[in-house]
Amino acid sequence: MINYVSTKGGISPVAFDVAVLSGFAADGGLFVPETIPKITQSQFKNWAELSYTDLAFEILSMFIDRSIISAIDLKKLIFDSYSAFESPRVIDMVPLGEDRRTIIMELFHGPTLSFKDVAMGFLINVLDYLLEKRGEHLSIVLATTGDTGPAAAWASAGKKTIDCWPLYPRGMITEEQERQMTTLNASNVHPIGVDNCPDGADDLDFVVAKLFADHELKDRLNLSSVNSINWCRVMVQSVHYFYGYYRAVENVGDEINFSVPTGAFGNLFGGYLARSMGLPVNKFICANNANHSLHTVFSSGVFAKKDLVRTISTAIDIVVPYNFWRFLYYSIGSDSEKLKALMNKFQASGKVELDEGTLSVIRNGFTSIAISDCETRETVRDTFEKYDGYLLDPHTAVAVAGANALKDTLPKGTKIVCLATAHPAKFPEITRACLDLESELPDQGKHASLESASKVCQHLRLCDLENLEFALVEAMTIHSNVLKN
Ligand SMILES: *Cc1c(COP(=O)(O)O)cnc(C)c1O
Repeated sequence: MINYVSTKGGISPVAFDVAVLSGFAADGGLFVPETIPKITQSQFKNWAELSYTDLAFEILSMFIDRSIISAIDLKKLIFDSYSAFESPRVIDMVPLGEDRRTIIMELFHGPTLSFKDVAMGFLINVLDYLLEKRGEHLSIVLATTGDTGPAAAWASAGKKTIDCWPLYPRGMITEEQERQMTTLNASNVHPIGVDNCPDGADDLDFVVAKLFADHELKDRLNLSSVNSINWCRVMVQSVHYFYGYYRAVENVGDEINFSVPTGAFGNLFGGYLARSMGLPVNKFICANNANHSLHTVFSSGVFAKKDLVRTISTAIDIVVPYNFWRFLYYSIGSDSEKLKALMNKFQASGKVELDEGTLSVIRNGFTSIAISDCETRETVRDTFEKYDGYLLDPHTAVAVAGANALKDTLPKGTKIVCLATAHPAKFPEITRACLDLESELPDQGKHASLESASKVCQHLRLCDLENLEFALVEAMTIHSNVLKN
C-alpha cells in the first residue's frame, strides 16, 4: 500500500486517486509518497531492454495500488497515452559527434511536440478513468507559457468527464502554440486568449489561484488543475530518466549525467525521483536561462523570488519553481515542520537562506548553470553547423549549452544525456534568428501538424486581463448549465 502525504504535513495520508484528483493537498502543500520505493538489483538489470511503455508499467506500478488501477487497466491507460506519439519508441536518442558522449533525448514526439505530452496524456487519461468510475466531472483551468496548454487541450479533447480551459497571454506565445489549442474542434476545449498581461502567464496564474481559493466557486464548478504540482506528472517524468539511462550507457551499472532545461523543476524532480529509486546518476545539470533562481540556490543556498526576465526560452521563464519544495522536503529528511517554516518565510519575504547542512545535501548529485539568450542562440547555430544540421529548439539549446560548459567537470567518459523538451518547429522565428535565415526553414524546423493547423479556423474566446476573472466564471457557468440540460 503506497500512501501520499503533504509536504506541509497537515493532512492524513491519502491514496493515489485522491492525490491525483485534488492536485494541491488541502493544507496547501504538495503531495509526495510517504516513502520513495526502491528498485532491486534484479529489477534494475531486468528492465534494461524494456520498451518505454513496458518500463512505464513497471515503474508506475510501484506508485499506484492495484486496488485503484488494476494491472490490465494500467497497461491500457499507458498504451492509450502513448499511441499518438509519432515515434514508435516514444522517445528517440540522438548521439552527437564522434565520441557519442553527448546524447540528445528527444521527448517531443507527442501530439503537441513538447515534453509536456509525455506526462499530460497519461494524467488526463487517469483523471478520466477515475472520474468515470465515480460518475464525476471536472473543469480543468490552467495558465500556460506555451506548451502545457496545448498538451492539456489535446489530451482532454473529446473526454466526456473533462472540460479544459487553457488561458494564455495573447501575443506572448508563438502562433504555432496558439493554434495547437484553438484548432482542435473539440466541444470540451475552451481556449481563452488574454490581452494585456504585463507579467505573461504569471498574471493568469494569479487569477487562477483566486478562483481556486474561492471554495464555494471551486466546488460549484468542480475546478481542478493539471500543472506540475500534480503528483501524477512528476511521477511519470521519472520514467524517461530510466529509459534514457538504459539506451545511453555502455554497461548497465555505469554512472550517467543528465542536463535538463529547467523552469518549475518538475522534469528535474522526476530525475531526482528516479535516482532516489536507485538509478545510478552521477550529476544532474540544472540548466536555467536568465531566470535563474535555481542556479542561485544550488550555488549559494539563497532561494529568492526575482522579477521575471523575458527570454527566447519562454517555457522556462519561471520565477518560483514550485517543485523545488518537493525536492527540499526530501533533502531535509521529510521534516514537514521545517519545510512549512521555510515555505511560510518564502511566502512572506520572497526569500529563504538554506543552512550549510541543507545546502550540501541539495548539492549532492546536482550542478547548475545559467545560460544567456546569446549563448542559447550560439548553441543552436553551432550544433546545426557541427552536427549535420541537427536543429535544437531554444529550450534544448539551454541544456546543451549547460552540458558543453560543464562537461569537463564530470567524470571522464560518463555520458551526458541532454533532455530535448520541444520540437524546433514550435519556434520558427527563433530558429530563423539563430541561423540567420530569411526564408525557408530546414526540414527539421517544420512539422506537418503545425502546417495543417495554420490553414483552418481558430475557435477561441478573447478577453482582457482586467475582466478575466468575471468573464471566465461567466463563461464556465453558462457552459456548465448547457451540460446540465
Ligand atoms: C515545461 C517546459 C520545460 C520546463 O520543465 P519544468 O518541469 O517546468 O522544469 C522545459 N522546456 C519546455 C519546452 C517546456 O515546455
